[in-house]
Amino acid sequence: MHAKANIPLTIRRPSLVRALLTWYTRNRRDLPWRPAPPENGPVDPYAVLVSEFMLQKTQVATVVPYFSRFLAALPNVAALAASSERNVLRLWQGLGYYSRARNIRAAARKIVACFDGQIPRSVRDLRTLPGIGRYTAGAIASIAFDERAPILDGNVARVLCRLEKVHADPRQPATLRRLWQLAGQILPASHCGQFNSALMELGATICTPRQPSCANCPLRRFCRAAAAGLQQTIPPPRKSRPVPTLARWTICVHCQNRWLLERRPPTGRWAGLWQFPTIETPDAPPTVRSIGPAIGLRIAGLHKIGQIRHALTHRRYVFTAFAATSGRLCLRTRSAAHFPHRRWVRLQDLHRFPLSRPQLRIADMLGASPSIAD
Ligand code: SF4
Repeated sequence: MHAKANIPLTIRRPSLVRALLTWYTRNRRDLPWRPAPPENGPVDPYAVLVSEFMLQKTQVATVVPYFSRFLAALPNVAALAASSERNVLRLWQGLGYYSRARNIRAAARKIVACFDGQIPRSVRDLRTLPGIGRYTAGAIASIAFDERAPILDGNVARVLCRLEKVHADPRQPATLRRLWQLAGQILPASHCGQFNSALMELGATICTPRQPSCANCPLRRFCRAAAAGLQQTIPPPRKSRPVPTLARWTICVHCQNRWLLERRPPTGRWAGLWQFPTIETPDAPPTVRSIGPAIGLRIAGLHKIGQIRHALTHRRYVFTAFAATSGRLCLRTRSAAHFPHRRWVRLQDLHRFPLSRPQLRIADMLGASPSIAD
């Protein structure tokens, strides 16, 4: 076992490819962007494009319902290109990393303008589209068009590090270069999409970060880390950094059965999404005098309605939500440069506005509170 595992993967490529593809055919998860086995039908490049955008930074189980809803509403590149940014953000609402939603719409518009409405097949052309880097281009080219393009995401990097017993941190540039090279070297001449999908699937379901299931792994006999008993320590665990907690006050102002919403700036976190006016928590206590000027509105009847916590990868937020009333449907902005868009909206019309997940939870609190719901 040890001696065989030490033979370079590039020499053992044919048997490795065979073992992985056989395992994949029998064990692949049924996902809506994959044509069903056994014939594997034609691949829809648009479905691959949408799924790859959604899968950037998001797990498969979370993506599935969003993907189905997105494709039902916008079934092809032309529909996506013609859709408004607000509509695309609304379909993306709750999935996070909203720059992906803006990028996929911009990519569709470029495909219509520059590629005659056809998703490009080559990595080079795909990389000219907004939001498509080396990994996503390789995934689309190989899975949708069976181009011989390697991929390297976190799952694949982990599998390759273990197969080749690479001790270095796979996020380091030199290691990344080596892994990209290896990902290209082990690619078969055909069935590249299947092979890449199989590698990702193996990383997601068998060769997991902790407790890899080596006993069930089709690549066990090729794996140098498993042969040396090092699969638990390769790759080295990421050093944890302190995650700051940011406090915000969200002020839900209502007037004549409507609630005040404002659109966030076009850049930064939750860019372009809508929210109840939200400010950094000031030092002053929450009073109508301290909050009214901060949101550019005369308010009354301020009271706390709840608190929610929201964790992101590098930040934690604590939103303290207040309800208040306004005497009139005033749209005065607190900063015309940063918040030029405000609307008074009925609760039942909130679904027309894309809101971040914490703002959706605050909206739920309003709907659940009989004393303040409209
Ligand atoms: S044998 Fe274990 S460590 Fe090696 S690739 Fe398979 S699951 Fe990963």
